[in-house]
Amino acid sequence: MEYRNLGKSGLKISELSLGSWLTFGKQIGDNIAKELMYLAYDNGVNFFDNAEIYANGASEKVMGEILKQSGWSRDSYIVSSKVFFGVNGLKDSKPTQKGLNRKHIVEACHQALKRLNVEYLDLYFCHRPDKSTPIEETVWSMHNLITQGKILYWGTSEWSAQEIMEAHMIARQNNLIGPTMEQPQYNMLHRNKVEVEFDQIYKTVGLGTTIWSPLASGVLTGKYNSAQDPNDTRLSLQELEWLREKNITEENLKRVEKLGKLAEELDLSLPVLAIAWCLKNQHVSTVMLGASKLSQLSENFKAIAAKDKLTNDVLEQIELILNNKPEKPTY
Ligand code: NDP
Repeated sequence: MEYRNLGKSGLKISELSLGSWLTFGKQIGDNIAKELMYLAYDNGVNFFDNAEIYANGASEKVMGEILKQSGWSRDSYIVSSKVFFGVNGLKDSKPTQKGLNRKHIVEACHQALKRLNVEYLDLYFCHRPDKSTPIEETVWSMHNLITQGKILYWGTSEWSAQEIMEAHMIARQNNLIGPTMEQPQYNMLHRNKVEVEFDQIYKTVGLGTTIWSPLASGVLTGKYNSAQDPNDTRLSLQELEWLREKNITEENLKRVEKLGKLAEELDLSLPVLAIAWCLKNQHVSTVMLGASKLSQLSENFKAIAAKDKLTNDVLEQIELILNNKPEKPTY
C-alpha cells in the first residue's frame, strides 16, 4: 500500500480506502461490515469514509461500533463524515437540520462524533455546495471546528472549482484554514471534474482528492453486460433506479465490453483494471472502494500490484476505448 499526501497537507492517506455508502447499515449485515473493515485495515487501508446521510446515520453507528470494538489505536486510522443533506435527507429534514449554515455544521459534527464513537473527525466534508448559505459562513464554521479540535481537516464534495477557489480566497483574506480536499466522482466513465475542471487548482491550492465510485457503482466490473442482469446487486435495487439510469447506458456498456477484453489480455479482472487506472492519476490522493462482499474487496486490492501493468501503451489503448476511437492495430 502506498501512502499519499492528502493535497498539500502532510497527512498520509492510503491510496485505497473504504467507504460505506449504501452498504453499511443498509445492503449488508453488520458482521460483513466488520469483516470488510478488518480486511481493509489488515491490508494497510487507513481511511474509512462516512456521512450523516448514509443509511440515515446508521452507517456511522455501525462503523462507530466496529471502531470501538476493534481496539485499533486512534492515531492509526483516518475517519470522515460529511454534512449537508441532514440525517433524514433534504426532503425530510427540518430547515435547521440541513445545509452548510453554522448551526447545522456544528450540530451535525457533534452528532457524527457521537455515532462514530470518536472524539474528533480527521476529515469533515461539505457534502454538496449550499447555494443558500454564504461560503464565508461555512469557511468560518469549519475553521472554528478545527481550532476547537473537533475536526482536523475540512473539505468539499462535488463543489465546482470556482466554489473551492472562493472558499480559499475567503480563508486567505481572514487568515483561516481553507479546504484541504475535494471528494469528486472519478472513474473511467466520469472524468471531467478531476481531469479538466480541477486542473489548475491542483497547482494553485494543492487540492487533494478522495475519489468516489471508482467502479461506477459496479458497471465497471462488467456484471451488467451479461445477457441476464444480476439481481442481487446495487443497481438492481428498485429504489436506485435513478443511479442505474445514470450509469447503465448503451454507450457505457459498449465501452465496458471493450475494456473487459483488454483486461483479459492483461490477465486482470475488469474491476482491478478500472481501479488501477484511477490510481495511476497522481492527482488522486485515495481511491475510495465500496464492497458488499469480502471477495470483492480482496479482488479490488489487486489493483495496487496491477498499476505496473498499466504502461503508457496500455493507457493509450484505454484512452482510445473511452473516446470511442478505433483501437490500435495489433501488427
Ligand atoms: P464503486 O463504484 O466501486 O461501487 C461499489 C459497489 O460495486 C460495491 O458495493 C459492489 O456492489 C460492487 N463491486 C465492488 N467491487 C466489485 C467486484 N470486484 N466485483 C463485482 N462487484 C463489485 O464505489 P462506491 O460507489 O461504493 O463509492 C465508494 C465510496 O465513495 C462510498 O462507499 C462512499 O463512501 C463514497 N461516495 C461518496 C459520494 C459523495 O457524494 N461524496 C457519492 C458516492 C460514494 P454490489 O455487490 O451491490 O453490486
